[in-house]
Amino acid sequence: MKLIIKTIIYFLFFFYSSELFSLEIKNVRFGSNADAKRIVFDISNDVTFKYKVLEKKIEIKFDKKLILEKPFKTNEDLKEINFDKTNNLIILTFKRNIHSPNIYFLKKKNNKYARVVIDYKNKQKKRKIVVVDPGHGGRDSGAVGITKQLEKNITLKVALLLKKEFRKYDEFHVILTREKDVYLKLRERTKIAKNSNADIFISLHADFNKNRRTRGISLYTLSEKASDREAEDLARRENRSDFLGNVDLTSESSEVTNILIDLTKRETLNQSSHLVNFLIKDIKSEMNLLKRAHRFAGFTVLKSLDIPSVLIEMGYLSNKEDSKLLVSNSYQKKITSNIVKAVKNYFDWIENNN
Ligand SMILES: [Zn+2]
Repeated sequence: MKLIIKTIIYFLFFFYSSELFSLEIKNVRFGSNADAKRIVFDISNDVTFKYKVLEKKIEIKFDKKLILEKPFKTNEDLKEINFDKTNNLIILTFKRNIHSPNIYFLKKKNNKYARVVIDYKNKQKKRKIVVVDPGHGGRDSGAVGITKQLEKNITLKVALLLKKEFRKYDEFHVILTREKDVYLKLRERTKIAKNSNADIFISLHADFNKNRRTRGISLYTLSEKASDREAEDLARRENRSDFLGNVDLTSESSEVTNILIDLTKRETLNQSSHLVNFLIKDIKSEMNLLKRAHRFAGFTVLKSLDIPSVLIEMGYLSNKEDSKLLVSNSYQKKITSNIVKAVKNYFDWIENNN
């Protein structure tokens, strides 16, 4: 009798510990149609499992010992699939949050494999519309550098580089407010952004300062109250562009603008600040930023926009080093790639937080 029990225990132990009896994950397959995607795990035999869905993860825990036949492939939505052998766990890590996936089991039939199926929505990614606004143009040359470089030419050059760079990515559609040396009123620039349903608006400039030692990149977002005197002066200079067209469009009553800013812009301003933070992060690592790089002022070009907007002063034309950099190809390319990187990060962040 004792021997029989011993033998049973031995067999039970053998049964549970041996890989001879474990199941094999044969394959992972992917499918998709217009509005759904599917991930299928082929398993050598029927099995039961539990699963857990976390924001970007799906964990599937099996009740039997599993072995992996070959390493997992992934699809475009997945960052990775890991297999935790000791816990019989498959962990799928997605690039983005996964919404209400449908996870189910299909029993082994005929000579086919048993299947664990994960269906999830194919979230159509809408292309992001980025409007880039090269400051000044035509009879409005903007700031004039110490070696006579014109702000309007620098902004256009960088805008054209940005267009080229953004076009490398499917997820962006880029529109420039001007592609030539033409004069545009500030309101015409914002109109382009509005009419094209822009997701973000980036206005490019190069600053000028009486203090010739001042240099570096700075980023401005809209606010009725300027963050400092310098920002206020700059806004005045940039806004002056409209007077050159003989029409002053800046004289909206302050009450109206205040209401606008207080009510409709708060969320936009928040978004703009997030965008600036991503820009600062990416630019900081490679380029020279002004101290307190994020400033606020009442720029007309940023007003009346319900679109996250930022004005980038790419450097100082009044500074010797900066004015050399501003016309150099390598500097223009560097700032371009940093802006594109930051914009990508910004939209990734939005996607993962909504
Ligand atoms: Zn300017």
